[in-house]
Amino acid sequence: MQQAPQTIVIVGGGTAGWMAANLLAQQWGRHGTQITLIESSEIGIIGVGEGSTPYLRQFFKRLGIEEREWMPACNATFKCGIRFPDWSTQPGYEQYVHPFFNQEDLPVGGEFFTNACLRRRGSAADANPQDFFIAAELARQRKAPFYLPREDGSPSPQTDYAYHFDSGLLGAFLKQHAFKLGVRHQIDTVARVDLCENGDIAQLQMDSGALVGGDLFIDCSGFRGLLINEALGEPFISYKDKLFNDRAIAIPSALDESQDIPSETTSTALRHGWVWQIPLSSRYGNGYVYASDFVSPEQAEIELRQHLGAAVANSEARHLKMRVGRVEQHWRNNCLGVGLSQGFIEPLEATALMLIQFSVEVFIDLMEQGEFSRRHQAQFNRHINKMFEGVLDYVAAHYRLNTRSDSDYWRANRENQQISDRLASILEVWDQGGDFEAELTSHGDALMYIRPSWYCLLAGMGRFPANLQAFKQQQEILTGAQARSKLESTAKRFFGHRDYLRSMK
Ligand SMILES: Cc1cc2nc3c(=O)[nH]c(=O)nc-3n(C[C@H](O)[C@H](O)[C@H](O)COP(=O)(O)OP(=O)(O)OC[C@H]3O[C@@H](n4cnc5c(N)ncnc54)[C@H](O)[C@@H]3O)c2cc1C
Repeated sequence: MQQAPQTIVIVGGGTAGWMAANLLAQQWGRHGTQITLIESSEIGIIGVGEGSTPYLRQFFKRLGIEEREWMPACNATFKCGIRFPDWSTQPGYEQYVHPFFNQEDLPVGGEFFTNACLRRRGSAADANPQDFFIAAELARQRKAPFYLPREDGSPSPQTDYAYHFDSGLLGAFLKQHAFKLGVRHQIDTVARVDLCENGDIAQLQMDSGALVGGDLFIDCSGFRGLLINEALGEPFISYKDKLFNDRAIAIPSALDESQDIPSETTSTALRHGWVWQIPLSSRYGNGYVYASDFVSPEQAEIELRQHLGAAVANSEARHLKMRVGRVEQHWRNNCLGVGLSQGFIEPLEATALMLIQFSVEVFIDLMEQGEFSRRHQAQFNRHINKMFEGVLDYVAAHYRLNTRSDSDYWRANRENQQISDRLASILEVWDQGGDFEAELTSHGDALMYIRPSWYCLLAGMGRFPANLQAFKQQQEILTGAQARSKLESTAKRFFGHRDYLRSMK
């Protein structure tokens, strides 16, 4: 067996760099691997990225970091799902929720799938997911995803959830933790990258004059892709024809202290894109993700400010460009692209940190399986590409399914033919009332999103036949109002969000 890499050099001190540093040090520090993270004091971090998927819970578990330790330090809150107002104009479906799913969902949530199938086949059953899932009700009542203790002391069921956090504070927290794991830190700017004859990176020449060599280089340099794109020339595949958004404007606002803290992300469609609202324990993070082919930055900022109102009258806006797509190979020679350098799918489902985590975890696993050789490099690249394409399909489906007609942007999105064969097939089977279960199953693990998520998206957007028949079958079905009233009482047994966060300090 060959040795684990002896020296790993990470370029970039954004979330990607510090996440990678922690995971690699945790895994290979014991093999004597020395990890150095280099970051430039002149080139800032992107400084956004404040929502996660539930998968981030595994990251902290793997590092042995408790929520009580990191969440208060990062002004973090709990996320029960994402609410999508104004993507659809279908009556009863003007907003919907993509919830995180729980074991406890079965009795009521199970009825949602039945209703969605009936409605898809022409019966007027209620099928907006926001009425059927506990997480959606928890968010409506601004609850934390934790049951109050039971009187008899018996354990409560587990619920699934994700997080919101201040990205700058998360980076600072992960930096301190990486130091504990022995990661070295160098502040300097890479000026040149020297390559070997075989295309490997030999060393980095720094602005200070220092030379930095290593066995393995991790490119966490952000959208620029300093090592993987610029130095190694790895091609970048743009998703611009599938996802039009290429800009964002971020702007913070104050929390309303008179109310509890929301436990969901809200992603509201506007004329030329959508606005995120992410509640932290200290403030809201807001931002407009839009397409520069359809609206100017100035006009987009006006739209965003109109949407947010007086709450942001005195807040400064940050304008950001986004490079949406991915590199062809994420691992090339002795270089691994991680984070924005490897690719980015716009943040509608908050998947970027999940892809960072997956990339590093899969890399560690395959390196170990290949006895620290490059034996599984092609397999790694196929795997990560499959994940990117899987997320792309799910995100692209939101745009395809919109029913807005207030701008060319939304019409162009709805009419866009640049969708994958897989997504086209999923939509066709749904629309034709075919066997949707079999359709989803046929794509195996190529779908990054599980079955309930696809149902929630398609039903939540109100993608149903126009002329529905009154429901005639003998079988009783649950109405949205009945489902909601059952969940309302369940949700009362959960902690208030602010109370739970306070109890963690
Ligand atoms: C608008 C927007 C919203 C987003 N929302 C979400 C979200 O809700 N959820 C989510 O998971 N993700 C989100 N993301 C993505 C998330 O922000 C990033 O994936 C994450 O912050 C990781 O960024 P990074 O570390 O790859 O790059 P960056 O933060 O850009 O860091 C780059 C680092 O490289 C260093 N560097 C660059 N060049 C050099 C050089 N020559 N020498 C030395 N150092 C150098 C810089 O100093 C910096 O430290 C969002 C992104 C955008 C644009």
